[in-house]
Amino acid sequence: MTKLEAKPASLVTSANALLRPRLLAPGPVETDPRTMLTLAKPQIHHRTPEAREIVLEARARLSALLGAPEWEPLILTSSGTGAFEAALVSLVPDGANVLSASAGKFGERWADMAHSLGYAVTRLEKPWGEALDPAEVADAARGQAALLITHSETSTGALHDLARIAEQAKRANPDLLILVDAVTSYAVAELRPAEWQLDAVISGSQKGVGGPPGLGFVFLSPSSVERLGANPRRYYFDLKKEVASQRKGETAQTPAINLVEGLLTSTERLVAVPLETLWAEKAKLNAALLAAGNALGCRPFASRVSPAVAALVPPVAVKDVVGALKALGARAVAGQAPHQDALFRVSTMGYFDRYDTLGMAGLLEDAFANLGRPVERGVAVAAAWKALNA
Ligand SMILES: *Cc1c(COP(=O)(O)O)cnc(C)c1O
Repeated sequence: MTKLEAKPASLVTSANALLRPRLLAPGPVETDPRTMLTLAKPQIHHRTPEAREIVLEARARLSALLGAPEWEPLILTSSGTGAFEAALVSLVPDGANVLSASAGKFGERWADMAHSLGYAVTRLEKPWGEALDPAEVADAARGQAALLITHSETSTGALHDLARIAEQAKRANPDLLILVDAVTSYAVAELRPAEWQLDAVISGSQKGVGGPPGLGFVFLSPSSVERLGANPRRYYFDLKKEVASQRKGETAQTPAINLVEGLLTSTERLVAVPLETLWAEKAKLNAALLAAGNALGCRPFASRVSPAVAALVPPVAVKDVVGALKALGARAVAGQAPHQDALFRVSTMGYFDRYDTLGMAGLLEDAFANLGRPVERGVAVAAAWKALNA
């Protein structure tokens, strides 16, 4: 009511008021509206056959999207960061030497986390946007108990070459545990945890699987499950307890059961195709957005791009681009500090599909034109279309 009063229809001169809001941030992502309806169902109790069935089915879905049937999928009521903490404290002995290899915000966060939890952290840090060098990581991994690494660095749009990094690191140090932040690569980019000899893979519900925020996922290799010991100084994030409960469709504490059920809806389409098809499609969406950006004078921020997020360096001020998109109802985000003025980011995760990329290309044309850039109409849309059909 107040909105209508403040803006009488006769005074709204622009059709922009008719635009639907678009959430383009690389998490939380737009979610299938049917997912939200699932959340609105009457509350159920978690110690019931109905809830057990939901948890077991959600675990099966998560497992299918990992492509490693023998790995253990665990669902935690926490964000992705909590899931990472759970994996770290459950697998790596107190005070051990850990290597954090990073080239962006999230990688740096794991080093900070490990440090605050009392681990002896060695930081291998590269400039934001760069790809980590497998040989360099392997070399630094000697003598370390664990490697903490971010596969898709959402802050820069980079996808590190995890297959080669893990292969060389394990060759240099066969006892090394590799803990992977796959928050934006899981269900988005090629990820082969068993083949690549990873030990733990972490993600969250508001990214690749396109659900609302609130769930963290930890996937453990069979040998990692064996390693889980009783740890007297952990309680909530005790993954040994979780494994025992979740195999029965339960959780140690009260789960966000509504969100778990929502996951069954948000993952429906993702599991309808082979993983390779999903990965290839997401890579195409990203290529289409990068091509659209390129047609408007933007360049990718990262040297090795992640399919999860198009991170673009615009020819005008980042805050102006974000503002111009916002005026069109679209919420893209700038880079993260200290690179907030260097790039803006648009997600391709979850619900976002190939026709959304064409709409996004059109939106970018309008946003840049509104900023006074000389935009030849149709160039970005044509470039996106071409990339989609390449
Ligand atoms: C979003 C994100 C996280 C943090 O996840 P939260 O759910 O906010 O805790 C960690 N790593 C990467 C790569 C991310 O994109």
